[in-house]
Amino acid sequence: MTKQEYDVVIIGAGPAGIFTALELSKRDRDRRVLIVDKGREIRKRNCPARKTGKCVNCQPCAIVSGWSGAGAFSDGKLSLSPEVGGRILDYMDRKEAEDLIQYADSIYLRFGASSIIHGLNTTRVDEIKYEAQKYNIRLIPCGVRHLGTDKAFNVLMRMYDYLISETHTEFRELTTAQDILVNKGKVEGVVLQKKGEAPQTVYCEHLVLAPGRDGAEWLSDQAGKIGIRTFNNEVDIGVRVEVPNAIMDHLTKDLYEAKMIYYSDTFENKVRTFCMNPGGVVSEEHYDGKIAVVNGHSYADPKLKTDNTNFAVLVSTRFTEPFHQPIEYGKYVAQLGNMLTGGGIMVQRLGDLMMGRRTDASRLRKSVTIPTLTSAVPGDLSYVLPQRYLTSITETMKAFDKLAPGLYGRDTLLYGVEVKFYSSKVEVNNQFETEVQNMYAIGDGAGVTRGLMQASVTGIVVARNII
Ligand SMILES: Cc1cc2nc3c(=O)[nH]c(=O)nc-3n(C[C@H](O)[C@H](O)[C@H](O)COP(=O)(O)OP(=O)(O)OC[C@H]3O[C@@H](n4cnc5c(N)ncnc54)[C@H](O)[C@@H]3O)c2cc1C
Repeated sequence: MTKQEYDVVIIGAGPAGIFTALELSKRDRDRRVLIVDKGREIRKRNCPARKTGKCVNCQPCAIVSGWSGAGAFSDGKLSLSPEVGGRILDYMDRKEAEDLIQYADSIYLRFGASSIIHGLNTTRVDEIKYEAQKYNIRLIPCGVRHLGTDKAFNVLMRMYDYLISETHTEFRELTTAQDILVNKGKVEGVVLQKKGEAPQTVYCEHLVLAPGRDGAEWLSDQAGKIGIRTFNNEVDIGVRVEVPNAIMDHLTKDLYEAKMIYYSDTFENKVRTFCMNPGGVVSEEHYDGKIAVVNGHSYADPKLKTDNTNFAVLVSTRFTEPFHQPIEYGKYVAQLGNMLTGGGIMVQRLGDLMMGRRTDASRLRKSVTIPTLTSAVPGDLSYVLPQRYLTSITETMKAFDKLAPGLYGRDTLLYGVEVKFYSSKVEVNNQFETEVQNMYAIGDGAGVTRGLMQASVTGIVVARNII
């Protein structure tokens, strides 16, 4: 058998991995680059739950694995502020971050992203910001280019076609990275396991680890084996809120996404909105193929718009010594919700929660807000979320009601549980290189980012460093 050798091997074909390959190919088309992903090639990605509303636990999960990673069916909101979607500002100054975002954005545009940017009408944004401040709410202004789930898929598919047909980039689907090989402090290669075949070692000059949140535990395990330090990150736990569009319209029509932060009254916990989807749908996604968590997205196609807006309200917690398992903690809370619903997502009217009673099917039928996630089981979130989280969420909803009257209403729907992990932070330098020479850790899996744009930026930084 011939020895498999590449200049660069990239683990994970999400935005971080794809942008590494795009930037490498731009600077040197002859470089032999291999991207591996445990999921499928983009055209073969198909999530049955998107048609039936019922998850059948595909392995690998088509929503988070395969070409485009978690970005394939995402809402495709490209956040154009370095303050949103990760912490690249810990690794570079603001000017550099802004330049890189602009550059990455131009690549998304080149591959077909919409030319419209929301949230840049500064007069209106300033007015909303002032209103928010009056109620101790911090509004983070952020330009957003919205691709929509349908367009995001096509943009990322074009990137695949370009890389495979016009550069020396190879893609292996259904291939999982196992052990990383290191020799005298320098990376040597990686053992790959293709579904149904014997493990195979590939050798490389540079190894880029971009396994996303789905591969965060694998990355953390490998870091432990090799002796690279990792640090606890926050875990964000909360609910997805769904209301009629009319309640949020005056914010979303100018901002598209109103990014708001509030420190709760009782515990002073940081609570934030996340991933706002006007005219969108609430969806179910899975971790480890089994834990159901809630999410949301929307389509660019006006025909696919709904009457509802959804967004997450998340409470951030950074656990301190001696606790080292924030991800496990988040999963545990999500599993409690799954346990009470027979394995799925729970939905409750805010009014029922405040009255200390369960939402049942008959109460849900009376709701003015018609749920878009029809598989969600009506229940009682107070059996799921710890009091600290629940109190912080309801206090925040009350505060946000001042900006969006009606939000703190009886028929506002709360779906649980939404969990966002920042994966454990892998120790890297400002070029995202680990202590192992020529080995890089980027994107969501390395605990550096939590959004498409910043994940893409980390890929560009690594590619420029390699060349
Ligand atoms: C439903 C949904 C909606 C979202 N909407 C938005 C949005 O509107 N805007 C936004 O900015 N962000 C959004 N996000 C988040 C965004 O998708 C992620 O931040 C982004 O995709 C992270 O990019 P990444 O390249 O770091 O990782 P990922 O995109 O997660 O890609 C990592 C890839 O690595 C693969 N992998 C993992 N482990 C291994 C292994 N051992 N071997 C081989 N392959 C492996 C995985 O299969 C996966 O394909 C959304 C996410 C979801 C799930």
